[in-house]
Amino acid sequence: MAKRIYLCLAHMSETGMEQKYIQEAFDTNWVVPLGPNVNGFEQDLESFVGQDKRVVALSSGTSAVHLALIACGVVPGDEVIVQSFTFCASSHPITYLGATPVFVDSEEETWNMDPDLLEVAIKDRIAKTGKKPKAIVPVALYGMPYQIDRIMEIADRYEIPVIEDAAEGFGSKFKGQVLGTFGKYGVLSFNGNKMITTSGGGALITPDQDSWREIMMYATQYRESYPYYQHEKIGYNYRMSNICAGIGRGQMTVVNDHIAHHKHVQKLYEELLADTKGITVHSQPKGQCSMVNGQCSMVNGQCSMVFDSNYWLCTITLDPELKIKGQENAYKTVVTGAVGGAAGVIHVADSATTDCQPNENVEALRVYMDKAGIEARPVWKPMHKQPVYKQAPAYVNGVSEAIFKVGMCLPAGPYVTDEDVKYIVDTIKDAIVG
Ligand SMILES: *Cc1c(COP(=O)(O)O)cnc(C)c1O
Repeated sequence: MAKRIYLCLAHMSETGMEQKYIQEAFDTNWVVPLGPNVNGFEQDLESFVGQDKRVVALSSGTSAVHLALIACGVVPGDEVIVQSFTFCASSHPITYLGATPVFVDSEEETWNMDPDLLEVAIKDRIAKTGKKPKAIVPVALYGMPYQIDRIMEIADRYEIPVIEDAAEGFGSKFKGQVLGTFGKYGVLSFNGNKMITTSGGGALITPDQDSWREIMMYATQYRESYPYYQHEKIGYNYRMSNICAGIGRGQMTVVNDHIAHHKHVQKLYEELLADTKGITVHSQPKGQCSMVNGQCSMVNGQCSMVFDSNYWLCTITLDPELKIKGQENAYKTVVTGAVGGAAGVIHVADSATTDCQPNENVEALRVYMDKAGIEARPVWKPMHKQPVYKQAPAYVNGVSEAIFKVGMCLPAGPYVTDEDVKYIVDTIKDAIVG
């Protein structure tokens, strides 16, 4: 197999719509961080997410998290509750604001924020600090919907706003409703590896016209309406460029195909790995039809399931007893590249190991797949185990740390063919000793 199979690659539409919109931007000289493509992309996103939401297109998902926190009134000294099992972009902006992230662990079914632990954390923070956390940030890890009905019930009871981090969950649904539309704000990402891409970019789903205007002000340096620059608040240069938005408009013509393909790849993995002892494919909670007034709620003539993941990445877990070829050599050499690459700039690690890392069979499987031309990755390391967040309060039950030790992400997305999935599964089976 000559081609290398990546975790999730950007994939342009067959019809070249992205280039058409970009060409239009050049032809009309809209090569700036506003313009017809930005407006058009925002409209496309608004019709996609529904619920009468207003959307602001931004330069990244990270900036969307940042602005949502500002809009929730987060200031230095505040606390914000955030799912620990996530990519750092969910929590870093809390730190940018001089606030403290309070990490909450996951439940086993969805791998996302444990609602019971969320309530424990809220009560304990109020007892310890005398004030409520300013926001709650659940994360749709690998696209999987969180238990949003329970999370919203708790958040509403304590009157704390929810910022949904649906960066990985674009198009995932809970009871037929798109993620990012339940909480006060919803974060989307269009980085190169996400469900759709604008090369780099993000968006914030806002609840109403006033919030939308305020986010728009913050995203464009908070310029007051005068003939000269007048600033009454600190703003940011976070608006999406009209070129990137052109890519986004093109991608919106294929978003449903992308989602369907990710789901198809997941199903194939589930089928092909069903009988492989020691490997479990992580799937959404099954068989629950979402009922409204005692009736199955239909969406587009189909029974809508409670959990409807976009399956952005397929994830598996390895039984600790499973033996993988080359396992005895796992972690023997220092790795010389950061995961995902950081513009080729790296720190050479001091050691080949840390005090919290995936099991040796997981690392051995990663290396085995890498040699076979397949990019596989450990699942994200929980934030409460990251050295940079050593001091942050954390409410843990061991779930995310346990999954981190046994979990692995497999390639998905439009570039991954049925043949590729078969090859990946065969490679996994080959790697198993015995
Ligand atoms: C990708 C991602 C983001 C946003 O990232 P950007 O790269 O800034 O667009 C936020 N949260 C999670 C969980 C993500 O995976």
